[in-house]
Amino acid sequence: MGKYLLSVCILLISISFSAPVNGAGLRASGPMVVVIDPGHGGEDTGAKGPSGLEEKHVTLRLALGLAEKLKKRDDIRVLLTRTADVFIPLEERTAFANRNGADLFISIHANAASNKDAVGIETFFLSFEATDEDARRLAAFENSAGQPGGARQAAGAEDDLKSILLDLANTMSHHESSAFAEAVHTTMVGGTGRENRGVKQAPFTVLVGATMPAVLIEVGFISNPSEEKWLSKTDGQARLAESIAEGILSFKDALARKRGHIEVSGRD
Ligand SMILES: [Zn+2]
Repeated sequence: MGKYLLSVCILLISISFSAPVNGAGLRASGPMVVVIDPGHGGEDTGAKGPSGLEEKHVTLRLALGLAEKLKKRDDIRVLLTRTADVFIPLEERTAFANRNGADLFISIHANAASNKDAVGIETFFLSFEATDEDARRLAAFENSAGQPGGARQAAGAEDDLKSILLDLANTMSHHESSAFAEAVHTTMVGGTGRENRGVKQAPFTVLVGATMPAVLIEVGFISNPSEEKWLSKTDGQARLAESIAEGILSFKDALARKRGHIEVSGRD
């Protein structure tokens, strides 16, 4: 057991310290790598709207629209975790981003609630303490989608020691993820005029272990009949894609400015 804990410590500490090396600013040149993760897919449909709209289709359409916009820029390289209606385990999505040296990771989702009146946009970054009960429930839903072990994993993360260790591992990118979430959330709410439900924190499996600033966006409530309609429309999708792209670009500039100091100090 002691040996196991030591290995976990070493693993987590090495993740922690490798975070900025894989991050955006320490690369002297070359495009910024943005990994877009359309939530769910295949047998994992995600949430379903009252008219039958499935979250997995909303997220893929939006991700493809966002990728289209970002691909027009020479200073950004866009990668998607999926481009078709296929199932991909949550851990594989994060691993894909790490493997490809992503500078930013954005996971796209649509929200659902038993209260049909719930509306608006929420943006999350990782924390093992959820902002509130709704955030905790949402993370449990997203974590369990398509994989029966997912919910248990989220519950396990509440274990004190594990929580402290995982917090340690994410300290390095935690602050940047928070700033990334703020940037994207601000432009999304501003660009779409939808209700602002704020930037929150929750234990999403898909964000665990990401070695770059990573966020999960809930672009609207598919469970709300009028928001479901808006999410299914080309105009809604286009406005969301445009505003998310704007947020990514504004954060990219802020990050480059901030990390410029580190590059100047000679760490390549
Ligand atoms: Zn989802």
